[in-house]
Amino acid sequence: MKNSKQTRRTPQDNPVDLIASLEQVLPLLDSEKCLEALLTEYHPKGPQCPACGQALTSEQEEGWRTGRRVFCRQCKKKFFPWHGTPLQGLHIKPEEAVLFRLAVAIGLRKKDLGHLFARQPHAISYWLARLCATNLPEEKK
Ligand SMILES: [Zn+2]
Repeated sequence: MKNSKQTRRTPQDNPVDLIASLEQVLPLLDSEKCLEALLTEYHPKGPQCPACGQALTSEQEEGWRTGRRVFCRQCKKKFFPWHGTPLQGLHIKPEEAVLFRLAVAIGLRKKDLGHLFARQPHAISYWLARLCATNLPEEKK
């Protein structure tokens, strides 16, 4: 019988188990809480219109915090909360973005990231550039 709890290993010792563990974590993450954490990080001044800078009303902010599109009454523009942030155009769920950054921080390689998130290498490279403002060195085959 496998008893992995008594054996302490670093991620580099057994990356397969680490990926399996992260796969199990993903569905447990709260999407709304992950979105809120990312929005707080990406909008340090708080929610405001990306076009004119108008602060959102509390009613607008409620929708903004849950990922709904907001209409600015001042400049008449519509925008999503991730407009102008690294999340824009990524096609990534908030919980995936949070887990992705964690996976990069603990040293997962591109190949493992691709496996974990079921994405092609070019998508992983794009996520790295946008979410981590970095890129991992190409791996030797
Ligand atoms: Zn505006």
